[in-house]
Amino acid sequence: MLQEKEAHAAEMERSFIAIKPDGVQRGLIAEIISRFERKGFKLVAIKIVIPSKDFAQKHYHDLKERPFFNGLCDFLSSGPVVAMVWEGEGVIKYGRKLIGATDPQKSEPGTIRGDLAVVVGRNIIHGSDGPETAKDEINLWFKPEELTSYSSNTEKWIYGVN
Ligand code: GDP
Ligand code: MG
Repeated sequence: MLQEKEAHAAEMERSFIAIKPDGVQRGLIAEIISRFERKGFKLVAIKIVIPSKDFAQKHYHDLKERPFFNGLCDFLSSGPVVAMVWEGEGVIKYGRKLIGATDPQKSEPGTIRGDLAVVVGRNIIHGSDGPETAKDEINLWFKPEELTSYSSNTEKWIYGVN
């Protein structure tokens, strides 16, 4: 049991997930949150913000050479974004599965982008693509005191350990 507990604690991770301005304007906040929540992931931080263009450029800094970079940053800063941190075993990789492929035309049905978006420039949601980016993005969007840490009674039913 102790080993299981230690393994569970070691697998725990956090991912930065954001509902982009198109997802907010289209009234998809609850739909998107519920997919992560029903899966069994835990929401540990959330806020709604309109990022500045400068901030959007920081968030997407690794894409600055791409032709769509300027339009993408204009878009991200064009309206409210729901910024979140979700916690759980494997949440970074599995979060990307829940989200689906970058281009909604290639996202499987059943994924968020597959079910709810049509074109790559309006794909409604962002999710960290690995442990390093997750750390950087959480630090960019949230102050340490905005991140909560709590246990929930459902965890023993989700993981079989608590
Ligand atoms: P993600 O991690 O799946 O969001 O994809 P990337 O990190 O590769 O790209 C970041 C965001 O840039 C995507 O979610 C899209 O909104 C946008 N993007 C990526 N590729 C293209 C493209 O070819 N054209 C346009 N217009 N936008 C793109
Ligand atoms: Mg990405």
